[in-house]
Amino acid sequence: MKVCLFDIDGTLVTTGMAGKDALIDAFLHVAELTQMENVLTVSGKTDRGIFAELFQLHGKAMTEEAWRAFIERYLNGLATNLPSREGMVLEGVTALLARLSQRDDVLLGLLTGNVERGAALKLTHYGIHEYFAFGGFGDHHPDRDDVARAALAAAEEYHGSPFAPSDVFVIGDTPNDVKCARAIGAQAVAVATGVFSIAQLEAANPDLLLANLGDLDAVEAFMFGS
Ligand SMILES: [Mg+2]
Repeated sequence: MKVCLFDIDGTLVTTGMAGKDALIDAFLHVAELTQMENVLTVSGKTDRGIFAELFQLHGKAMTEEAWRAFIERYLNGLATNLPSREGMVLEGVTALLARLSQRDDVLLGLLTGNVERGAALKLTHYGIHEYFAFGGFGDHHPDRDDVARAALAAAEEYHGSPFAPSDVFVIGDTPNDVKCARAIGAQAVAVATGVFSIAQLEAANPDLLLANLGDLDAVEAFMFGS
């Protein structure tokens, strides 16, 4: 049995900034600020890590209470933003998920920096949440490598036994996705559908590098050798 662990933003969907804008609004609200002092980059990071980074950059106390308030505000903003932005499921994704879900030799899960409820909101909005039975999420870990370990543990619990590292595939759109694949000994599939270019992703040395997930035969051949 093989397992595919998918990143969400820039890999499965783009939300038309629905997520990032909700994160910024939530931070400003909880930190009682009117504007950001720094440009926020979010690609490849976890919600927990973004929260920590923002509070440190602005010299604010980072408490569990602040985290809970931040996430509640963020999830409300995300739910409001999603229907009003021009987001979409990225090229090839729906067909790939449909094809892989037909196979009996692969399981589909998530490996994302999103908090679990945020991931569910995004994927439900775009109609692809049903494909994923388990995952690793950004609720607890600032470091994506730890999310990868959690995702693999969730996959193995769902499956009921361990996977060989060569049977684990991490699909993502940033160098951090490739890095966290290495942290669990998995194979890294990088797609240039987020903010990173083919050249930038190539520097991270993924096992398979694609412009997008539209070439289903190439993805399937890489994973299953046929
Ligand atoms: Mg991403």
